[in-house]
Amino acid sequence: MSRTNPPPFGTAFHNQMPITRFDGKTWQTPSMVPSNKLEMHPAMHVFHYGSSCFEGMKAFRLHDDRIAIFRLDQHVARLQNSARLLNIAVPDFEMTKQMIIDVVRSAREEVPDAPGSLYLRPTLMGIDENIGRAGAPSESALLFVLASPVGDYFTFGSPLKLLIEREHARCAPHMGSAKAGGNYASALSWQIKAKAEYGANQVLFCPNGDVQETGASNFILIDGKTLITKALSSEFLHGITRKSLLELAPTLGFKVEERSVHVDEIKDVIARGGEAILTGTAAVIAPVTAFIDNGQEIEVKNQTQALTLRKAMLDIQSGQSPDAFNWLTIV
Ligand SMILES: *Cc1c(COP(=O)(O)O)cnc(C)c1O
Repeated sequence: MSRTNPPPFGTAFHNQMPITRFDGKTWQTPSMVPSNKLEMHPAMHVFHYGSSCFEGMKAFRLHDDRIAIFRLDQHVARLQNSARLLNIAVPDFEMTKQMIIDVVRSAREEVPDAPGSLYLRPTLMGIDENIGRAGAPSESALLFVLASPVGDYFTFGSPLKLLIEREHARCAPHMGSAKAGGNYASALSWQIKAKAEYGANQVLFCPNGDVQETGASNFILIDGKTLITKALSSEFLHGITRKSLLELAPTLGFKVEERSVHVDEIKDVIARGGEAILTGTAAVIAPVTAFIDNGQEIEVKNQTQALTLRKAMLDIQSGQSPDAFNWLTIV
């Protein structure tokens, strides 16, 4: 596999993965198994009652050939939070961390050169073999960590059109901060419709005009030198790229406002030459190129600040800039 030109995002996997099961009392000692098959009983809780959640993080190859995982502790903590919200057994913090480190070490030779990376996908699910547990949590659980070499998700100059959805939310408002497959499934119909009817790349969910997030990334408005984004709530996913950017931006001369944003404000800011970005592990920071609202397209003419912020973040992730915030775990 080429280290400079990995296959399309999410399609290639390191051939081993760490795995562990919880039997209702204790987690097994994790072991490495082939990553291309999993034996599962068709009655397992996850297949019927949606007890599953996951994480997505990246390991980067630094210029000195060391490998670093970006914000490992934050991602493990969020997996635990998702597990709590879904009533799945909460995996031990240190165990999960070690499983992630182990798979990165195992796949070390396959970590692409930056801006490519090794994408890591811890996945947790309820595995009670009992279809009678519709109203009860699964007592047993399974956790594995897939590793996938990926290239740069972002291609400069490609359109990123957001359809403003003023009515519906992405998912149930009390579940937004769980990184759960079910939330993605519930947003899918809007996503498909947006593409088919408007040629939009993503849906920006703004129930009653309250700007929340897209199907898989957080939204930040850039008004001059101010970043504006919704304050944390149970309604949306607390992105670690978002959090990192809000810490990094003040060192680059930006102000940060975490507060409610109404759709009308997006239009005002863009009309005045402002910018907008999406943040998430896969694309890191992606400039929005247009909004579609009430059938009208609003072009975002400027991407300057977005690209500055993107470069600053990638430089830290890939070790080009000093790790001033201690975000990297060297493996
Ligand atoms: C994963 C995810 C994000 C981005 O989170 P990061 O930690 O930055 O990758 C944003 N929104 C949703 C719905 C997500 O699932």
